Amino acid sequence: MNKKYSEVIIIGAGPAGCAAAIQLKRSGFDPLIFEKDQIGGLANNANFIENYLGFPNGINGSEFVNLLEKHILRLKIKLVKEEIIEITWDSKKNLFYIQSNLNYYKANYLILAIGTIPKRLSIIGEEELNELDLLFYEPTNIKKQNLLNKRIAVIGAGDAAFDYSLQLEKIASQITIFNRKNTFHCLPLLMKRVEEKSDKIKIIKNKQIIKFEYKENQNQPYVVLEFADKSKSNFDIILIAIGRIINSFLIDQLAKENPDKKKLYKIGDVKNGYYRQISIAVGDGIKCAMKIINDIKIRSN
Ligand SMILES: Cc1cc2nc3c(=O)[nH]c(=O)nc-3n(C[C@H](O)[C@H](O)[C@H](O)COP(=O)(O)OP(=O)(O)OC[C@H]3O[C@@H](n4cnc5c(N)ncnc54)[C@H](O)[C@@H]3O)c2cc1C
Repeated sequence: MNKKYSEVIIIGAGPAGCAAAIQLKRSGFDPLIFEKDQIGGLANNANFIENYLGFPNGINGSEFVNLLEKHILRLKIKLVKEEIIEITWDSKKNLFYIQSNLNYYKANYLILAIGTIPKRLSIIGEEELNELDLLFYEPTNIKKQNLLNKRIAVIGAGDAAFDYSLQLEKIASQITIFNRKNTFHCLPLLMKRVEEKSDKIKIIKNKQIIKFEYKENQNQPYVVLEFADKSKSNFDIILIAIGRIINSFLIDQLAKENPDKKKLYKIGDVKNGYYRQISIAVGDGIKCAMKIINDIKIRSN
């Protein structure tokens, strides 16, 4: 099998992966960066970014991602729109073998900037509704639909549930946030903004969803939510925002292979636990690129 070679391969074109690519490129290297979905990663889902240096008035997520894409294009960084599905390490040749959904690659250095994946509720009906495009975990795909007159149920109690509700409120008719507990753990700033939109966004506490059911009315699909107290409610679209976990799929594959620690890097949300922020991901990307550049210099002397 003919494998395309790149000295450094980066998986994930979110803020972490893009920062690493930019730092490598400006130091004279030519990394390949893989993205299975959208450049900008999770930042595509951010309503309004207010804590990133250089934007005194804040910037919305999609504008931030446009700038990031321009930066990558201007530097002629090679972005490959493929999903990486398997990685192995050859300890004799000191190479990573990387398989995407379309091609085979090999690299001396590998950067995993693959971020997080959303938690599932794991209740009846969830998977089926997700396949039918009635239940989502991120708002970007919902926003592509015509949401006029649509009732959206947002399930969650943290920053993402509130941030997503504020985005959808602008285009949908009614948003209801469901929290299974009595307390919320979002930024007070987001809570205040949601409360200011009480005509469009309702907050319901102490309601635990136990089941989703698909229904139709005159060929129009809708979803019945069933709660632990046996009550029911109807909605058109469901958005689940109950937290995220690290995207460990490729990491687990490599754990068995024991690759050289100076050749494999994890950066950004995939390794930062609770501290999931763009600035931290970008800092990780720059630092890891500098470490790789240093390692290459040492090995070539
Ligand atoms: C609603 C919301 C609001 C936010 N607001 C802010 C904010 O105001 N300020 C702030 O600093 N942070 C904010 N964040 C957090 C910020 O978006 C993340 O910290 C940041 O995007 C992490 O960057 P990353 O590159 O590590 O991961 P991600 O952005 O998650 O990028 C990972 C990328 O890897 C790709 N990928 C994964 N697996 C593969 C594979 N096998 N093959 C190819 N590609 C793959 C994914 O498609 C994704 O594009 C917010 C997040 C959310 C959800």
